[in-house]
Amino acid sequence: MPNENLPNKKSLHEIDGISQPDHVNQDSIRTIQNFRRKSLNIDLLIEKLLQGDIPSLSKAITIIESTNPTHKEQAHKIIQTCLPHANKSVRIGITGVPGVGKSTFIEAFGMYLTSIGKKVAVLAVDPSSTISKGSILGDKTRMEDLVKNTNAFIRPSASGESLGGVSRKTRESIILCEACGFDTILIETVGVGQSETAVHSMTDFFLLLNLAGAGDELQGIKRGIMEMADSVIINKADGDNLKHANNAKLDINRALHLFPLKDSKWQPKVLLASAFYNQGIEDVWQLLEKYFSLTKENGYFEANRKNQNAYWLRETINEQLLSNFYQNQTIYEQLQNAENAVQNNEKSPFTAANELLELYSKIKKSS
Ligand code: GDP
Repeated sequence: MPNENLPNKKSLHEIDGISQPDHVNQDSIRTIQNFRRKSLNIDLLIEKLLQGDIPSLSKAITIIESTNPTHKEQAHKIIQTCLPHANKSVRIGITGVPGVGKSTFIEAFGMYLTSIGKKVAVLAVDPSSTISKGSILGDKTRMEDLVKNTNAFIRPSASGESLGGVSRKTRESIILCEACGFDTILIETVGVGQSETAVHSMTDFFLLLNLAGAGDELQGIKRGIMEMADSVIINKADGDNLKHANNAKLDINRALHLFPLKDSKWQPKVLLASAFYNQGIEDVWQLLEKYFSLTKENGYFEANRKNQNAYWLRETINEQLLSNFYQNQTIYEQLQNAENAVQNNEKSPFTAANELLELYSKIKKSS
C-alpha cells in the first residue's frame, strides 16, 4: 500500500517544483515536443511498415514523395531503415502506348500472381502526369479486382515533378514496398519520352506490350524500346485480331533476332495474350521465371542491380547539380544576360558557359 503522506516519487512529479526560466521560449518547447512526437511516430510507422502494414507503407511513400523540407529528414530515415530489408523481389517494367491494355494486363497479371502466392506492388513512372495533372494509375477503377486484393498494393505515380524526380521517388518506393514484404514489383510507364529508359534502369525485366496492327506491326514502335525489351507481348490477341496477332508475332520475332545478344544472354521472346479475356497470362509468368533462373544462375541479375545502383547514384548527382545551378539566383540573373549576349553574337556560347560555370564555383567557394 503506498503511504499517502509521502511525496509522489514518480519522476514526472519530482520536477514539478522547477519552474521554467523566463528566457525559455514556449514556442520552441512546443516545436521540440512536436518533433519528438513526430520522430516517435516515424519509428512506429517504420516498424509497422516492416511488419507488412499497408496503410503505413502508403503513409511512408507520401512522406518520401513530399516536397515539404521538414519531411526530408523523415524520408531519409525511412529509406535508410528499409534498405537492409529491400532487394528481395523481382522488379518488372511494363510499357506500351496508351490504349494497348497496360491496366487490363496488370489487373489480370497481378490477380494471377497473387493467386500463386505472390505479393504484388504496382507503381508508375508517368512523365505526362506533370502536364495532365492526372496519372496512368490514377484511375484505379481500371484495376477493380486488384485494388481490392489484400495481397496487392497499387500506387499512382508521383506527379508535378521532373522525370528525374519522379524516377527517384519511384525507386525509393520500390525499396519501401520490398521492405513491406512485396516480392513482385510491377512498374508501369507509357511509351512516351524518356520514361522507358528510366523504368528499364530500375527493373530486372522489361516487358513491352504491343498491338497487332494491320500489316504495319513495326510502325510506331521506337527502335530503342524494342531493343530494351526482354519480351514483347502482343495484347488483344483475341477474336478477329488473332490472325493479325500471329503474323505480328512472326515479324517481331524476326526483328528481335536482329539485335545483338544482350549482356544477360537472354534472347527476348514474343508472346500472345488477351488481358481482357485472361488468356496467355500464365505463359508470361513462366517466361519470366525462365529469365530469372537464367540470369540468377549466370550472375547477370545481381550484377545488373549493382550497376543500376551506380547508375542512379550518378543520375541523382547530375540532377542535383543541375537544379542547384539553375536555382541559384545570381546564376539565374546572369544566365539571362549571357543568353542575350550569345544571341547577339557578342560572345560565343562556350565562353559564356565557362564564365557562368566559373561564377558558380566562386559562389560555392564563398558560401
Ligand atoms: P492502357 O491505356 O494501356 O492502360 O489500356 P487499358 O488497359 O485501359 O485498355 C484500353 C482498352 O483496351 C480498354 O477498353 C480495354 O478493355 C481494352 N483491352 C485491354 N486488353 C484487351 C484485350 O486483351 N482484348 C481486347 N479485345 N480488348 C482489350
